[in-house]
Amino acid sequence: MNKESKIKLHVGIDDTDSAEGMCTTYLTCIILNKLNEIGIKPLNYPRLIRLNPFARYKTRGNGALSFVIELNDRNDVNKVEKIVLDNVEKYSMFDGVNTNPGVVFYEGEITQEMKDYAINAIYKIYTIDYAEDFAKEIGARIYKFKKGRGIIGSIAAISLELTDETFELLAYRMPENIGTKRQLNEDSIYKMNEETYPDTFDNIDIEGEYTAIEPHTPCPVLYGIRGNNPEIVKKAHSLVISEEKISDYCIFRTNQHTDMHIQSGFKIKDMVNTSCYKFDAIVSENPHDIKGGHVFFKVTDGTDEIECAAFEPTKTFRNIVRKLSVGDELTIYGGLNENHTLNIEKFKLNKIATIYKYLNPVCGCGKRMKSAGKNKGFKCPKCGTILRNSDKIKEPIERDDIKVGFYEVPTEARRHLSKPIIRIETGADQILQK
Ligand code: ATP
Repeated sequence: MNKESKIKLHVGIDDTDSAEGMCTTYLTCIILNKLNEIGIKPLNYPRLIRLNPFARYKTRGNGALSFVIELNDRNDVNKVEKIVLDNVEKYSMFDGVNTNPGVVFYEGEITQEMKDYAINAIYKIYTIDYAEDFAKEIGARIYKFKKGRGIIGSIAAISLELTDETFELLAYRMPENIGTKRQLNEDSIYKMNEETYPDTFDNIDIEGEYTAIEPHTPCPVLYGIRGNNPEIVKKAHSLVISEEKISDYCIFRTNQHTDMHIQSGFKIKDMVNTSCYKFDAIVSENPHDIKGGHVFFKVTDGTDEIECAAFEPTKTFRNIVRKLSVGDELTIYGGLNENHTLNIEKFKLNKIATIYKYLNPVCGCGKRMKSAGKNKGFKCPKCGTILRNSDKIKEPIERDDIKVGFYEVPTEARRHLSKPIIRIETGADQILQK
Protein backbone atom coordinates (compact mmCIF):
# COMPACT_ATOMS: atom_id res chain seq x y z
CA MET A 1 0.00 0.00 0.00
CA ASN A 2 1.50 3.38 -0.90
CA LYS A 3 1.92 6.26 1.58
CA GLU A 4 -0.78 8.33 -0.12
CA SER A 5 -3.58 5.96 0.81
CA LYS A 6 -2.58 5.71 4.46
CA ILE A 7 -4.73 7.35 7.10
CA LYS A 8 -2.95 9.84 9.36
CA LEU A 9 -4.70 9.72 12.71
CA HIS A 10 -4.09 12.32 15.44
CA VAL A 11 -5.08 11.21 18.93
CA GLY A 12 -5.55 13.70 21.80
CA ILE A 13 -6.23 12.77 25.44
CA ASP A 14 -6.76 15.01 28.47
CA ASP A 15 -8.13 15.27 32.00
CA THR A 16 -7.85 11.64 33.06
CA ASP A 17 -6.01 12.20 36.35
CA SER A 18 -6.75 13.76 39.72
CA ALA A 19 -4.73 14.93 42.71
CA GLU A 20 -5.24 11.43 44.18
CA GLY A 21 -3.49 9.62 41.37
CA MET A 22 -2.78 8.68 37.77
CA CYS A 23 -1.18 10.88 35.15
CA THR A 24 -2.31 11.32 31.56
CA THR A 25 1.31 10.79 30.42
CA TYR A 26 1.28 7.35 32.06
CA LEU A 27 -2.03 6.46 30.43
CA THR A 28 -0.59 7.55 27.07
CA CYS A 29 2.43 5.34 27.70
CA ILE A 30 0.11 2.37 28.45
CA ILE A 31 -1.88 3.03 25.26
CA LEU A 32 1.29 3.28 23.14
CA ASN A 33 2.48 -0.05 24.56
CA LYS A 34 -0.85 -1.68 23.67
CA LEU A 35 -0.65 -0.27 20.16
CA ASN A 36 2.93 -1.48 19.87
CA GLU A 37 1.73 -5.02 20.73
CA ILE A 38 -0.38 -4.97 17.54
CA GLY A 39 2.44 -3.47 15.48
CA ILE A 40 1.32 0.17 15.53
CA LYS A 41 3.94 2.79 16.40
CA PRO A 42 3.56 6.57 16.63
CA LEU A 43 5.17 8.58 13.82
CA ASN A 44 7.12 10.62 16.34
CA TYR A 45 7.49 11.20 20.05
CA PRO A 46 4.15 11.59 21.82
CA ARG A 47 3.53 15.20 22.81
CA LEU A 48 2.94 16.67 26.27
CA ILE A 49 1.40 20.08 25.65
CA ARG A 50 0.96 22.58 28.48
CA LEU A 51 -2.01 24.94 28.10
CA ASN A 52 -3.22 28.06 29.90
CA PRO A 53 -1.65 27.98 33.38
CA PHE A 54 -4.71 29.80 34.75
CA ALA A 55 -7.25 27.16 33.61
CA ARG A 56 -9.51 26.74 36.64
CA TYR A 57 -9.97 22.96 36.62
CA LYS A 58 -6.37 21.90 36.12
CA THR A 59 -4.89 19.26 38.42
CA ARG A 60 -1.30 20.50 38.28
CA GLY A 61 0.35 21.89 35.17
CA ASN A 62 -2.56 21.82 32.71
CA GLY A 63 -0.96 19.26 30.42
CA ALA A 64 -2.68 17.47 27.55
CA LEU A 65 -1.32 14.58 25.48
CA SER A 66 -1.28 13.67 21.81
CA PHE A 67 0.35 11.37 19.29
CA VAL A 68 0.09 10.70 15.55
CA ILE A 69 -0.05 7.35 13.78
CA GLU A 70 -0.34 6.24 10.17
CA LEU A 71 -2.78 3.41 9.52
CA ASN A 72 -3.55 1.24 6.55
CA ASP A 73 -7.32 1.16 6.63
CA ARG A 74 -10.55 1.93 8.47
CA ASN A 75 -10.35 -1.36 10.30
CA ASP A 76 -7.06 -0.24 11.91
CA VAL A 77 -8.57 3.15 12.79
CA ASN A 78 -11.42 1.38 14.60
CA LYS A 79 -8.96 -0.88 16.42
CA VAL A 80 -6.86 2.09 17.61
CA GLU A 81 -9.88 4.08 18.71
CA LYS A 82 -11.14 1.10 20.73
CA ILE A 83 -7.79 0.61 22.46
CA VAL A 84 -7.57 4.33 23.33
CA LEU A 85 -11.14 4.60 24.62
CA ASP A 86 -11.04 1.30 26.55
CA ASN A 87 -7.91 2.38 28.37
CA VAL A 88 -9.17 5.91 29.11
CA GLU A 89 -12.24 4.22 30.56
CA LYS A 90 -10.16 1.72 32.52
CA TYR A 91 -7.54 4.06 34.01
CA SER A 92 -9.18 7.49 34.42
CA MET A 93 -9.73 8.73 37.97
CA PHE A 94 -13.49 9.09 37.55
CA ASP A 95 -13.96 9.71 41.28
CA GLY A 96 -12.06 13.02 41.05
CA VAL A 97 -14.57 15.91 41.15
CA ASN A 98 -12.61 17.72 38.49
CA THR A 99 -11.73 14.71 36.37
CA ASN A 100 -13.66 14.98 33.12
CA PRO A 101 -11.77 13.06 30.43
CA GLY A 102 -11.96 14.03 26.80
CA VAL A 103 -10.52 12.24 23.77
CA VAL A 104 -10.26 13.46 20.20
CA PHE A 105 -9.49 11.63 16.94
CA TYR A 106 -8.70 13.66 13.85
CA GLU A 107 -7.67 12.44 10.40
CA GLY A 108 -5.45 14.42 8.03
CA GLU A 109 -3.22 17.46 8.28
CA ILE A 110 -3.42 20.10 11.01
CA THR A 111 -4.93 23.28 9.56
CA GLN A 112 -4.13 26.91 10.38
CA GLU A 113 -7.43 27.33 12.26
CA MET A 114 -6.49 24.35 14.43
CA LYS A 115 -3.09 25.90 15.16
CA ASP A 116 -4.87 29.14 16.09
CA TYR A 117 -7.27 27.25 18.37
CA ALA A 118 -4.28 25.67 20.13
CA ILE A 119 -2.26 28.82 20.74
CA ASN A 120 -5.38 30.50 22.06
CA ALA A 121 -5.94 27.58 24.45
CA ILE A 122 -2.65 28.76 25.98
CA TYR A 123 -3.53 32.46 25.92
CA LYS A 124 -7.24 32.32 26.79
CA ILE A 125 -9.93 30.32 28.62
CA TYR A 126 -12.33 28.22 26.52
CA THR A 127 -15.67 26.59 27.33
CA ILE A 128 -16.50 22.94 26.65
CA ASP A 129 -19.23 24.07 24.21
CA TYR A 130 -16.75 26.15 22.25
CA ALA A 131 -14.38 23.18 21.95
CA GLU A 132 -17.22 20.88 20.93
CA ASP A 133 -18.40 23.27 18.19
CA PHE A 134 -14.81 23.62 16.99
CA ALA A 135 -14.42 19.83 16.80
CA LYS A 136 -17.54 19.64 14.64
CA GLU A 137 -16.21 22.37 12.36
CA ILE A 138 -12.92 20.57 11.73
CA GLY A 139 -14.53 17.14 11.44
CA ALA A 140 -12.86 15.63 14.52
CA ARG A 141 -14.48 12.79 16.47
CA ILE A 142 -14.71 13.63 20.18
CA TYR A 143 -15.49 11.40 23.15
CA LYS A 144 -16.55 12.99 26.42
CA PHE A 145 -16.49 11.17 29.74
CA LYS A 146 -18.49 12.79 32.58
CA LYS A 147 -18.51 16.51 31.58
CA GLY A 148 -15.83 15.81 28.98
CA ARG A 149 -13.90 19.01 29.70
CA GLY A 150 -10.77 17.22 28.49
CA ILE A 151 -11.79 17.82 24.87
CA ILE A 152 -10.65 21.46 25.28
CA GLY A 153 -7.11 20.31 25.94
CA SER A 154 -7.05 17.25 23.70
CA ILE A 155 -7.96 19.29 20.60
CA ALA A 156 -5.21 21.78 21.51
CA ALA A 157 -2.69 18.97 22.09
CA ILE A 158 -3.08 17.57 18.59
CA SER A 159 -3.18 21.04 16.99
CA LEU A 160 -0.38 23.09 18.53
CA GLU A 161 2.47 24.07 16.25
CA LEU A 162 5.77 23.92 18.10
CA THR A 163 8.01 26.88 17.32
CA ASP A 164 10.34 25.89 20.15
CA GLU A 165 10.33 22.63 22.07
CA THR A 166 11.92 20.65 24.85
CA PHE A 167 11.78 16.97 25.79
CA GLU A 168 10.85 15.26 29.03
CA LEU A 169 11.66 11.68 29.89
CA LEU A 170 9.22 10.35 32.43
CA ALA A 171 10.09 7.18 34.34
CA TYR A 172 7.19 5.34 35.95
CA ARG A 173 6.92 3.37 39.18
CA MET A 174 5.85 -0.23 39.68
CA PRO A 175 2.12 -0.23 40.58
CA GLU A 176 2.83 -1.65 44.05
CA ASN A 177 5.15 1.29 44.90
CA ILE A 178 2.79 4.08 43.89
CA GLY A 179 2.01 6.26 46.91
CA THR A 180 5.16 5.29 48.84
CA LYS A 181 8.32 7.41 49.24
CA ARG A 182 10.35 7.47 46.04
CA GLN A 183 13.66 5.61 46.32
CA LEU A 184 16.22 7.46 44.23
CA ASN A 185 19.95 7.68 44.75
CA GLU A 186 20.48 11.41 45.34
CA ASP A 187 24.20 11.40 44.52
CA SER A 188 23.46 9.95 41.11
CA ILE A 189 21.08 12.84 40.40
CA TYR A 190 23.79 15.40 41.24
CA LYS A 191 26.23 13.46 39.03
CA MET A 192 23.69 13.30 36.21
CA ASN A 193 23.23 17.06 36.55
CA GLU A 194 26.99 17.65 36.39
CA GLU A 195 27.26 15.60 33.21
CA THR A 196 24.22 16.83 31.34
CA TYR A 197 23.46 20.41 32.50
CA PRO A 198 22.73 22.81 30.79
CA ASP A 199 21.30 20.54 28.08
CA THR A 200 19.13 19.17 30.86
CA PHE A 201 17.82 21.65 33.40
CA ASP A 202 15.72 21.96 36.54
CA ASN A 203 17.26 18.78 38.01
CA ILE A 204 18.50 20.49 41.16
CA ASP A 205 17.00 23.50 42.92
CA ILE A 206 18.67 26.87 42.50
CA GLU A 207 20.71 26.72 45.72
CA GLY A 208 21.69 23.13 44.97
CA GLU A 209 20.04 22.02 48.19
CA TYR A 210 17.73 19.33 46.90
CA THR A 211 16.97 17.34 43.78
CA ALA A 212 13.96 18.42 41.78
CA ILE A 213 13.28 15.58 39.34
CA GLU A 214 10.81 13.66 41.49
CA PRO A 215 7.22 14.83 41.98
CA HIS A 216 5.68 15.11 45.44
CA THR A 217 2.29 13.66 44.58
CA PRO A 218 1.00 10.07 44.70
CA CYS A 219 1.14 9.79 40.89
CA PRO A 220 2.83 6.97 38.93
CA VAL A 221 5.78 9.19 37.92
CA LEU A 222 9.05 8.24 39.59
CA TYR A 223 10.95 11.14 38.02
CA GLY A 224 10.97 13.45 35.04
CA ILE A 225 14.10 14.72 33.35
CA ARG A 226 13.78 17.82 31.20
CA GLY A 227 16.17 18.62 28.41
CA ASN A 228 16.70 20.21 25.05
CA ASN A 229 16.72 17.00 22.98
CA PRO A 230 15.73 13.33 23.23
CA GLU A 231 19.33 12.08 23.33
CA ILE A 232 20.30 14.11 26.38
CA VAL A 233 17.25 13.11 28.45
CA LYS A 234 17.99 9.47 27.59
CA LYS A 235 21.60 9.85 28.63
CA ALA A 236 20.54 11.57 31.86
CA HIS A 237 18.08 8.75 32.56
CA SER A 238 20.89 6.20 32.19
CA LEU A 239 22.87 8.08 34.86
CA VAL A 240 20.15 8.20 37.50
CA ILE A 241 20.26 5.28 39.88
CA SER A 242 16.86 4.21 41.10
CA GLU A 243 16.65 2.02 44.16
CA GLU A 244 13.19 0.90 43.17
CA LYS A 245 12.27 -0.92 39.97
CA ILE A 246 11.14 1.26 37.08
CA SER A 247 8.10 -0.15 35.28
CA ASP A 248 8.59 1.83 32.08
CA TYR A 249 9.69 5.18 30.70
CA CYS A 250 8.59 7.39 27.84
CA ILE A 251 10.07 10.46 26.14
CA PHE A 252 7.63 13.29 25.36
CA ARG A 253 8.08 16.20 22.97
CA THR A 254 6.77 19.26 24.80
CA ASN A 255 6.18 23.01 24.77
CA GLN A 256 7.44 23.15 28.36
CA HIS A 257 10.12 25.77 29.07
CA THR A 258 9.47 27.67 25.84
CA ASP A 259 7.59 30.78 27.12
CA MET A 260 4.87 29.88 24.62
CA HIS A 261 2.31 31.27 27.09
CA ILE A 262 3.91 34.72 27.04
CA GLN A 263 2.38 37.34 24.73
CA SER A 264 4.40 40.37 23.59
CA GLY A 265 3.36 43.76 22.25
CA PHE A 266 0.72 44.56 24.87
CA LYS A 267 0.52 47.76 26.90
CA ILE A 268 -0.47 47.48 30.58
CA LYS A 269 -3.84 49.14 29.94
CA ASP A 270 -4.76 46.35 27.49
CA MET A 271 -3.62 43.38 29.59
CA VAL A 272 -6.35 41.02 30.78
CA ASN A 273 -6.56 38.60 33.70
CA THR A 274 -5.54 34.93 33.19
CA SER A 275 -3.13 35.83 30.36
CA CYS A 276 0.65 36.04 30.44
CA TYR A 277 2.85 38.81 29.06
CA LYS A 278 6.34 40.12 28.42
CA PHE A 279 6.60 43.92 28.61
CA ASP A 280 8.91 46.82 29.45
CA ALA A 281 8.06 48.91 32.49
CA ILE A 282 9.50 51.16 35.18
CA VAL A 283 9.16 50.50 38.89
CA SER A 284 6.65 53.06 40.21
CA GLU A 285 6.26 51.91 43.83
CA ASN A 286 8.96 50.33 45.98
CA PRO A 287 8.66 46.65 46.96
CA HIS A 288 7.08 45.83 50.30
CA ASP A 289 6.36 42.58 52.14
CA ILE A 290 2.88 41.55 53.13
CA LYS A 291 1.69 38.86 55.55
CA GLY A 292 2.59 35.39 54.33
CA GLY A 293 5.94 36.44 52.91
CA HIS A 294 4.68 37.76 49.57
CA VAL A 295 6.49 40.75 48.07
CA PHE A 296 4.55 43.36 46.08
CA PHE A 297 5.59 46.39 44.03
CA LYS A 298 4.12 48.45 41.21
CA VAL A 299 5.30 49.23 37.70
CA THR A 300 4.10 51.53 34.94
CA ASP A 301 4.61 51.74 31.19
CA GLY A 302 2.97 55.14 30.85
CA THR A 303 -0.43 53.69 29.88
CA ASP A 304 -1.33 52.32 33.31
CA GLU A 305 0.15 51.03 36.55
CA ILE A 306 0.04 47.39 37.64
CA GLU A 307 0.80 45.51 40.84
CA CYS A 308 3.46 42.82 40.56
CA ALA A 309 4.00 39.98 43.01
CA ALA A 310 6.76 37.60 43.96
CA PHE A 311 4.79 35.12 46.05
CA GLU A 312 6.20 33.20 49.02
CA PRO A 313 6.90 29.97 47.07
CA THR A 314 9.37 31.92 44.90
CA LYS A 315 11.68 31.92 47.97
CA THR A 316 15.09 33.52 47.23
CA PHE A 317 13.78 35.28 44.13
CA ARG A 318 12.00 37.62 46.58
CA ASN A 319 15.38 38.84 47.89
CA ILE A 320 16.22 40.25 44.45
CA VAL A 321 12.75 41.73 44.07
CA ARG A 322 13.11 43.48 47.45
CA LYS A 323 16.16 45.32 46.09
CA LEU A 324 14.24 46.96 43.24
CA SER A 325 13.56 50.65 43.53
CA VAL A 326 11.38 53.30 41.95
CA GLY A 327 12.82 54.23 38.54
CA ASP A 328 14.42 50.86 37.78
CA GLU A 329 13.76 49.80 34.18
CA LEU A 330 12.63 46.19 33.68
CA THR A 331 11.46 43.70 31.08
CA ILE A 332 8.91 41.62 32.96
CA TYR A 333 7.61 38.12 32.16
CA GLY A 334 4.55 36.93 34.04
CA GLY A 335 0.86 36.20 34.20
CA LEU A 336 -2.04 38.30 35.41
CA ASN A 337 -4.06 36.39 37.97
CA GLU A 338 -7.80 36.68 38.67
CA ASN A 339 -7.10 39.64 41.03
CA HIS A 340 -5.24 41.55 38.33
CA THR A 341 -1.89 41.04 40.08
CA LEU A 342 1.03 40.12 37.87
CA ASN A 343 2.67 36.93 39.05
CA ILE A 344 6.32 37.44 38.01
CA GLU A 345 8.13 34.45 36.45
CA LYS A 346 11.32 36.30 35.56
CA PHE A 347 12.54 39.78 34.76
CA LYS A 348 15.45 41.49 33.13
CA LEU A 349 16.79 44.51 34.97
CA ASN A 350 17.76 46.82 32.10
CA LYS A 351 18.72 49.99 33.96
CA ILE A 352 19.34 50.65 37.63
CA ALA A 353 17.93 53.99 38.76
CA THR A 354 20.11 56.33 40.76
CA ILE A 355 18.45 56.82 44.12
CA TYR A 356 19.48 59.26 46.78
CA LYS A 357 19.69 59.58 50.49
CA TYR A 358 19.43 62.99 52.18
CA LEU A 359 22.01 63.70 54.90
CA ASN A 360 22.77 66.55 57.29
CA PRO A 361 25.81 68.60 56.16
CA VAL A 362 29.29 67.87 57.57
CA CYS A 363 30.74 70.59 59.77
CA GLY A 364 34.10 72.27 59.02
CA CYS A 365 35.50 70.29 61.99
CA GLY A 366 34.62 67.02 60.22
CA LYS A 367 31.65 66.02 62.37
CA ARG A 368 28.17 65.36 60.84
CA MET A 369 25.86 68.14 62.03
CA LYS A 370 22.53 67.67 63.80
CA SER A 371 19.23 69.44 63.24
CA ALA A 372 18.98 72.63 65.28
CA GLY A 373 15.18 72.31 65.39
CA LYS A 374 12.42 72.77 62.84
CA ASN A 375 13.47 75.42 60.22
CA LYS A 376 16.45 76.38 62.39
CA GLY A 377 19.21 74.80 60.30
CA PHE A 378 21.97 72.59 61.71
CA LYS A 379 24.26 72.60 64.71
CA CYS A 380 27.56 70.76 65.13
CA PRO A 381 27.46 68.54 68.23
CA LYS A 382 31.26 68.78 68.56
CA CYS A 383 32.27 72.43 68.03
CA GLY A 384 28.84 74.09 68.29
CA THR A 385 28.93 75.74 64.81
CA ILE A 386 25.47 76.70 63.59
CA LEU A 387 24.32 76.71 59.92
CA ARG A 388 21.03 78.63 59.70
CA ASN A 389 20.00 78.24 56.05
CA SER A 390 21.57 75.04 54.87
CA ASP A 391 19.60 72.23 53.14
CA LYS A 392 20.21 68.52 53.55
CA ILE A 393 22.86 67.11 51.24
CA LYS A 394 21.68 64.74 48.47
CA GLU A 395 23.96 61.71 48.10
CA PRO A 396 23.51 58.77 45.71
CA ILE A 397 22.94 55.42 47.44
CA GLU A 398 25.31 52.67 46.36
CA ARG A 399 23.34 49.89 44.66
CA ASP A 400 26.07 47.35 44.03
CA ASP A 401 23.95 44.60 45.61
CA ILE A 402 21.95 44.30 42.38
CA LYS A 403 23.18 44.09 38.80
CA VAL A 404 21.71 44.59 35.36
CA GLY A 405 20.60 41.20 33.96
CA PHE A 406 18.08 38.38 34.11
CA TYR A 407 16.53 37.04 37.33
CA GLU A 408 14.11 34.09 37.56
CA VAL A 409 12.11 32.16 40.14
CA PRO A 410 13.76 28.96 41.42
CA THR A 411 13.11 25.56 39.84
CA GLU A 412 10.46 24.52 42.35
CA ALA A 413 8.37 27.62 41.72
CA ARG A 414 8.75 27.62 37.94
CA ARG A 415 5.70 27.18 35.73
CA HIS A 416 6.01 24.31 33.28
CA LEU A 417 5.79 26.72 30.36
CA SER A 418 8.34 29.19 31.70
CA LYS A 419 11.61 29.30 29.78
CA PRO A 420 14.59 29.01 32.13
CA ILE A 421 17.18 31.74 31.54
CA ILE A 422 19.79 29.08 30.76
CA ARG A 423 17.86 28.12 27.59
CA ILE A 424 18.03 31.76 26.48
CA GLU A 425 21.70 32.20 27.37
CA THR A 426 22.80 29.02 25.58
CA GLY A 427 20.60 29.68 22.53
CA ALA A 428 18.90 26.30 23.04
CA ASP A 429 15.56 28.00 22.46
CA GLN A 430 16.60 28.67 18.84
CA ILE A 431 17.18 25.03 17.87
CA LEU A 432 14.22 22.95 16.72
CA GLN A 433 14.78 19.18 16.53
CA LYS A 434 14.22 17.39 13.21
P1 ATP B 1 -1.55 17.06 34.94
O1 ATP B 1 -0.59 18.20 34.87
O2 ATP B 1 -1.36 16.15 36.05
O3 ATP B 1 -1.71 16.36 33.62
P2 ATP B 1 -3.50 18.92 34.59
O4 ATP B 1 -3.05 20.06 35.41
O5 ATP B 1 -3.12 18.76 33.20
O6 ATP B 1 -3.01 17.66 35.25
P3 ATP B 1 -6.09 18.27 33.75
O7 ATP B 1 -6.52 17.10 34.53
O8 ATP B 1 -5.59 18.06 32.38
O9 ATP B 1 -5.07 19.01 34.66
O10 ATP B 1 -7.26 19.35 33.72
C1 ATP B 1 -7.17 20.56 32.99
C2 ATP B 1 -8.53 20.81 32.36
O11 ATP B 1 -8.56 22.15 31.84
C3 ATP B 1 -8.80 19.90 31.19
O12 ATP B 1 -10.14 19.52 31.21
C4 ATP B 1 -8.53 20.76 29.97
O13 ATP B 1 -9.25 20.37 28.83
C5 ATP B 1 -8.97 22.09 30.49
N1 ATP B 1 -8.32 23.20 29.78
C6 ATP B 1 -7.11 23.22 29.18
N2 ATP B 1 -6.88 24.42 28.61
C7 ATP B 1 -7.96 25.17 28.84
C8 ATP B 1 -8.32 26.50 28.49
N3 ATP B 1 -7.51 27.27 27.79
N4 ATP B 1 -9.53 26.95 28.87
C9 ATP B 1 -10.36 26.16 29.60
N5 ATP B 1 -10.07 24.89 29.98
C10 ATP B 1 -8.89 24.40 29.60
